[in-house]
Amino acid sequence: MLSLHEDPFHADLYGGRLTIDVEAIAKNWLFLKGKLTGDTECAAAVKADAYGTGQAPAGQALFNAGCRTFFVAVPTEAISLRQTLPDATIYALNGLLPGTSDHYLENDIRPVLGSLEEVRDWIDLCKSAGRSFDAAVHVDTGIHRLGLSPDEFSATLSDADLMGPFVPSLLMSHLACGSTPDHAMNKRQLDLFRTITAPYAHIQRSLANSAGVLMGPEYHFDLVRPGISLYGGQAIDDTPNPMTPVAKVEARIMIVRNVPAGDTIGYGAMHTAKRTLRNAVVAAGYADGMLRRAGSTDERPGGFAMIEGHKAPILGRISMDMITLDVTDIPDHLVKRGAFVEMLGPNVAAADLAAYAETIDYEYLTSLGQRFHRVYGPLT
Ligand SMILES: *Cc1c(COP(=O)(O)O)cnc(C)c1O
Repeated sequence: MLSLHEDPFHADLYGGRLTIDVEAIAKNWLFLKGKLTGDTECAAAVKADAYGTGQAPAGQALFNAGCRTFFVAVPTEAISLRQTLPDATIYALNGLLPGTSDHYLENDIRPVLGSLEEVRDWIDLCKSAGRSFDAAVHVDTGIHRLGLSPDEFSATLSDADLMGPFVPSLLMSHLACGSTPDHAMNKRQLDLFRTITAPYAHIQRSLANSAGVLMGPEYHFDLVRPGISLYGGQAIDDTPNPMTPVAKVEARIMIVRNVPAGDTIGYGAMHTAKRTLRNAVVAAGYADGMLRRAGSTDERPGGFAMIEGHKAPILGRISMDMITLDVTDIPDHLVKRGAFVEMLGPNVAAADLAAYAETIDYEYLTSLGQRFHRVYGPLT
């Protein structure tokens, strides 16, 4: 167990517990690395606090497993990761916001340059220093978020006067539809990326996120950048998920009560008891990342929790600090005040819950609250 989070409170004082297994993150990284051939490097996306699992412990575990290149989104994340991993290569995906270049250089962080303006600013920096500073160049192959247009990309990289001493350390693009491998967009992006970067094959090239790794070698190029799969998430829709779960959320039962048939449960009286129900009210809510949209109404079922192998459906709206579960059909001795209920984890996949909340497991993971007792260790 890591002691990276000093905990001032006794475990009993928390409403719930978030257990994170960084060894499982390392295991998932090794699994993905095992899919690569030749010299292809397996990097890791550790943005958004390593998808809610904790940037420092996750980053350290990945580095210990052999990962040397890391992607975060914003400069603050890059600088804090630099404190944890002095020897890693760190890219900041969101690129070069004005006023950030000195900080990048000071902390040995590489921006992923996402527009012509950003590339020009970086080139100016290189020219005034008379040397190249490492940075990636992002080319947009169809997602239309960040990245130079293909024309801008080719015109810039082929213009030796403009480039001056700048030699990019990485050329990259990002898939828009990796979660649905059959989507025509994937092949289109792949072909465009391959063609447009072909003259620069001496520079490291990268296209794949987690889904791209799983879609096969033609997507791998020289470096892959998985995120969600490292954290046990489901990169590709409607397929068995090969990854190991890394996080478990458990909430404690505060009270167990009966609800007469015909009465309603929770805010807005959205769910009516169709028979006499036995409810357990647990101490986790949307403020803890239990997304409110996973609540139930009379028209629509909500998500569920698990109690010792029994499914406990969510009843009515999810509140800020609590959730009501239907435990009518679960043996009494398993539903005791103070007991822990699994809200998310090996038996409640974030991707399953996400289906009820009309979202994806990425949102569940990155929303995990700061109010739980955080434990680093096996999920048991
Ligand atoms: C977040 C991100 C990744 C990782 O994506 P996953 O789908 O989580 O594997 C890779 N590349 C870029 C540009 C990203 O923004």
